[in-house]
Formats: sequence, structure tokens, C-alpha cells
Amino acid sequence: MDSIWPNGNKCAACFTFDLDAEWVFMGNDPSIAEKPRIKSQGEYVWNSNIIPRLLDVLDTHDLKATFFVVAMNAINHPDVVGEIVDRGHEVATHGWKHEAVDHLPYKEEKQLRLKMIKAIEDATGVRPVGNRVAGGEIGPNTHDILKELGFLYDSSMRGCDLPYKLDNGLVIVPSYYEMDDFHLFADYPFGAYKARMMSPQTGYEIWTNAFDGYYRYGLCWTTMFHPQIIGKPGNIMLLERLIGYVKKFPDVWFANAGMVAEHWKLMGI
Ligand SMILES: [Zn+2]
Repeated sequence: MDSIWPNGNKCAACFTFDLDAEWVFMGNDPSIAEKPRIKSQGEYVWNSNIIPRLLDVLDTHDLKATFFVVAMNAINHPDVVGEIVDRGHEVATHGWKHEAVDHLPYKEEKQLRLKMIKAIEDATGVRPVGNRVAGGEIGPNTHDILKELGFLYDSSMRGCDLPYKLDNGLVIVPSYYEMDDFHLFADYPFGAYKARMMSPQTGYEIWTNAFDGYYRYGLCWTTMFHPQIIGKPGNIMLLERLIGYVKKFPDVWFANAGMVAEHWKLMGI
């Protein structure tokens, strides 16, 4: 079969990160604002300079990633979020406060998305073209609103091993829960969420095993990591091991989600 990836590459490797920080807790439960200990588990990202730490690793390995950023993080930390774009990465939207949107009427969701765009644009100077829904389901109007607002892609769905196009032309860049570090290493319970502390070796096995399969079938392997999890001192060594594993394979196209979506849009599949 002819390659479906640029330059005859066999598969795509797409590193994406969801920059939630404290909003992963507060987005759906505002009372967390009054719970300093839980909140501090998100503030950790800023206090420990996790984003520059992560950007340094990506620089070392010459990788360009996508960061799906909660708008409030762009408002409260414009320098940090701006640095992501300054260092060559993509910033995309990930909720206003990491809230659910599926109950919102069309008009309200559109207003909210316009606010997200402005917050990201103010911090980075670049208008976002990608989105990953935060905290909950996709709304009945979400994909149409994204298209109307000039978005190229959404990365909230799980419906194929490859990117795909919706009827309205929006590209879907899927990711999968097996590639979500939260499910393996979020060492704190909140809401219905149970604390998990898997061995790093387990994460390595799950993620490299997944990569083997995506490589074999020539697909698009997409991570869904979180700086507050993968950026911890031990876990970032796991990330480097994982990057090293993937880099040993020939003919891998390293691309962020925006690059994957742009390619897929032109593919006519
Ligand atoms: Zn999130």
C-alpha cells in the first residue's frame, strides 16, 4: 500500500498534552477553589516550572507538540502559555474553565468558544485551529460551532485509528484512553476518580505496545498526556524513554495535531 503520510513515512507519531493544571479539579466543581490542598495539585504545574521542563525535553528531541490549554491558564499565565508557541509548538483550546459544554445551547457555547479563542490569541499571538473538549461529552452543536469559527480539527473523538473527516469538513484527530497518563499515574483521588499509581514500567509497556501496533498498520499514534502528570520528575524520565523508543523506528512522521489535521484535510479521504 502506498504511504498515506508525508515523505513516504510509515506512520505518524503525534505528541499532545492537555494543560489543565488546577482547572481539571475546579472546572466541574467550583468548591475546589476553597480546597487548597486539592487545588495545589494543579498549581504544582506553575510552582515547579513544569512547562519549561517539558519544553526542554521536546527541544532536546526536536519534537513539535500540541498543547490543549484551558483558557483560564492562558489568562493567568500568559508568559508560560506564550512560551509554548514561541518555542515552536501549537496551542489549541481545551475549555474556558475545563467545564462540560454538552448541556449548553448553541448561542452560549459559541460565546464561550469565542472567549477561549481570544484568551489563547491574547497569550500567544496565534489564533487556535484545534480543540479538545474538556470535562464531559461533546455538545450537539460543538463540531458545527468549531467549523463556523474557522477551526481545522477537533481531537475529542475516538472513532478510528486514523484521523477522519466529519460531514461538515472538520478533521478529527483521535486519541485514546490507553494513551492518557492520567489513567495510569494520577496519584490523587477526586470526585469519582480513584488514585492510581502504576509502575512506570507499566506505562512504558502500554504506550510502546500501542506504538508497535500503530506502526505496524501505518496509523496515527497520538498521546494524551498532562503536564501535571507526565512532567513529574520520575515521569518525565519515562517520557524520555518513550520518545527514545519511538525514535528508533525508521520512517515515522513526527507531527503535532495541527500538522496531522492539515495533512488529512488535503488527503481527500
Ligand atoms: Zn483536560
